Amino acid sequence: MHDIVIIGGGPGGYVAAIRAAQQGAKVALVEKDKLGGVCLHRGCVPSKTLLHSAELYRNALHAAAFGIEIPAPTVHFDKIMARKDQVVRTLHGGVEHLVKANRIELVRGEADLLSPTRVKVGDTVMDARHIIIAVGSSPALPPLDGCDDPCVITSDQALHLDQLPESMVIVGGGVIGVEMACLFRNLGTAVTIIELLDRIVPTLDSDLGTALRKTLKQQKIETLTGARVLSVKGGKVTFEHEGATKSCSVQKVLMAVGRRSNGLDLALDKVGVRHVKGVIETDAQLRTSVPTVYAIGDVNGKYMLAHVASKEGLTAVAAIMGRNAAMNYAAIPQCVYTIPEELASVGMTEEEARRQHGAAVKVGRFPLAANGKALATGLRDGFTKLIAGPDGEILGAHLMAPHATDMIATLAVAMQAELTPVEIGETVFPHPTVSETILEAAHLIEGNPIHAVR
Ligand code: FAD
Ligand code: NAD
Repeated sequence: MHDIVIIGGGPGGYVAAIRAAQQGAKVALVEKDKLGGVCLHRGCVPSKTLLHSAELYRNALHAAAFGIEIPAPTVHFDKIMARKDQVVRTLHGGVEHLVKANRIELVRGEADLLSPTRVKVGDTVMDARHIIIAVGSSPALPPLDGCDDPCVITSDQALHLDQLPESMVIVGGGVIGVEMACLFRNLGTAVTIIELLDRIVPTLDSDLGTALRKTLKQQKIETLTGARVLSVKGGKVTFEHEGATKSCSVQKVLMAVGRRSNGLDLALDKVGVRHVKGVIETDAQLRTSVPTVYAIGDVNGKYMLAHVASKEGLTAVAAIMGRNAAMNYAAIPQCVYTIPEELASVGMTEEEARRQHGAAVKVGRFPLAANGKALATGLRDGFTKLIAGPDGEILGAHLMAPHATDMIATLAVAMQAELTPVEIGETVFPHPTVSETILEAAHLIEGNPIHAVR
């Protein structure tokens, strides 16, 4: 009898397995493919490794503006891909080692549920006091004519292409859409984004979407919003935009319209686990409608983010081991790795804050153009925006800046610790750094800015 059987070895499942083993539980981890999941093999790590190459190429092309001439920098797509594979291999080896070093029973194969306390992998049946479902998600395809056309790819294939496409339509201007647009455009591909809604990255604070759209335009990434793709055939994409039917021909069409839960492939109904289209309902301890079964990561659909999957894994294990633990979804950092500046958010958007608290909301928005480090690096198209509530609490923070994805951690800590803009304003920030824009935004909320006029 196992204390815990975990199905899926992504950043949710393997992290949960390590913590459970550290706490003395008898744990089995079932993985049908490779430890590390989507994040390591088809998501976070390969995409950011490729984005770094694209950014280097961009910097080489723009080096003359910094007084450095680099004659004819050249993209070797095969070498870029090989480096990405090497980074993934190294980290994969690291995860395999950690699982072994923690003496976790690793079962290779596809698992399914037999009962609330029983899991089947091939011919093997495992009994468990608790089961954690961590099976993740897969790319979704939109319901349109031509998704089976050979030119159509998803992020899975985009990260494993043999050749750099000359042209690409990206259907969906969400997180994957804009990251892939920056990646391929900066390597030289002509990119058009076709987004159904009237704005890109629609789940983020609208100031971020507006500012990002400007920088995409500067990079000659065409962004069509309020546009509906009708069909794809032989690389020809037909779509409706601004009341007219239009078309364009491209080498690749990347579908980036969201992801479907892999819970659909499990016998959830047979076991009584409540779900909607495979997205499993969970409480703050990640417990499902069946008390012995937990669900963490993409499969519960709360946030499709690796760090959330890992934190949910730690929380579920703590709950199973009888410790006091609950998820705090109010302070989840969300990052979008665009080029040249990045986007990062935590907490409520300004729209959400105003819906909840009306005129009592205070906003401090400090432009990068007034920050010394931003000017020094030439990356000055962005801002730091802090949102405070009626009791002076921080409700949200939204950044477009170089290294915004690193800086947001400071604000996640501030929100988790329930710090106020006054306390941030009293903190000493290092100079010259882009992080000083956080201090300036806090001073703006207090009404006593130094480097901005009230
Ligand atoms: P997964 O990583 O999907 O892992 C699930 C695992 O379960 C897989 O290994 C799978 O093989 C296994 N499995 C499935 N079914 C079974 C079964 N029946 N039996 C046994 N094993 C099974 N998130 C970020 O936070 N930051 C980023 O920068 C980021 N970038 C991304 C870029 C792209 C292109 C994509 C697609 C995603 C990105 N994400 C990012 C999202 C992130 O990858 C996911 O949120 C994360 O991987 C979810 O972790 P998980 O453990 O829930 O599931
Ligand atoms: P998404 O939900 O972020 O964006 C999908 C976009 O497609 C939306 O803007 C939506 O309006 C649009 N859309 C939907 N149907 C459409 C249609 N028929 N035509 C045109 N547009 C359409 O989904 P995604 O970009 O596929 O990413 C999936 C998840 O993966 C994200 O929610 C995110 O959590 C995760 N992810 C995270 C990161 C990161 O943390 N940096 C990176 C990549 C992916």
